[in-house]
Amino acid sequence: MSDGLDAIYNELRRLQKEGVDCVYINDETRALLKPATKVQPPRERGKAVEHSNLADLIKKSPSIEAAVHTLATTTQIGIEPLPDPPQVILPEGDSAVQIKWLKETVLNCNICTKRKGDHEKVVFGDGNPNADILFCGDAPGTEEAAQGIPFVGDAGQLLDKIIKAMGLDRKGVYCTNIMKWRPENDKPYGNRPPTHEELSFCLPYFRAEVEAIQPKAIVALGNVAVSGLLGPDPQRKMGGVRGTWHLFQDLPVMITFHPSYLLRSDTLKTKRTIWEDLLAVMEKVELPVTEKQRGFFL
Ligand code: URA
Repeated sequence: MSDGLDAIYNELRRLQKEGVDCVYINDETRALLKPATKVQPPRERGKAVEHSNLADLIKKSPSIEAAVHTLATTTQIGIEPLPDPPQVILPEGDSAVQIKWLKETVLNCNICTKRKGDHEKVVFGDGNPNADILFCGDAPGTEEAAQGIPFVGDAGQLLDKIIKAMGLDRKGVYCTNIMKWRPENDKPYGNRPPTHEELSFCLPYFRAEVEAIQPKAIVALGNVAVSGLLGPDPQRKMGGVRGTWHLFQDLPVMITFHPSYLLRSDTLKTKRTIWEDLLAVMEKVELPVTEKQRGFFL
């Protein structure tokens, strides 16, 4: 590989170690990569995604492919542009009434139902409408779209364990994604990260969930969810922002790694890092923390 490509490869490896599973690629980097990537056939709708070029290039390690996704735009992906995001005005009522109304609205959303795969479901949030803690991912994956429930695949089962370690269960918290359908993917396997437009289209639905629930803390899982909540920032590094508090609709947001990162980097150090972020969340919402819990993964 040339020096430039070596540098990109090493940077991607470093980012992967930091827990980044989606990167922005500027024009300069794209130009550097162009001659080294396989020439792709002209893009058809839903085909020839830019991130697969990059994944082809970085074939050195199978796991790095998962780390190399561009949070692309719909034009890059080649899917039809989305209309303006919906305007959502919640009805009067308590959280349970509002969430019930919102769920029906989202499950019947024309765009969500059109964009979801043929045998897939639109995936609304799940859990307690009065929860103190709201876990936010980016988009449903294969399992979630099959069942119509967020966080039920491998990453979701790991999230369940994390929630249990906090002394809670899924009925006591609220789990959701910014995006409400599984992003269509031209590959028969894996999940494509959502585009900016897809996240922006669904954001009003997520905002309304937050407005109805008014959690004491939101946990943003992974850099794609963080980009959706706080806006994209190519300079933002997960290693730099995880464990820090931000605001979303005036409510505190803790940034931590996505459980899928823990699946790929199953070390005591990663577990402890994520656990420290969640200890901070437990303190924020005034959950009791035992000495045993404080010492997990040390
Ligand atoms: N990853 C997410 O971000 N959300 C899910 O629901 C499942 C996997």
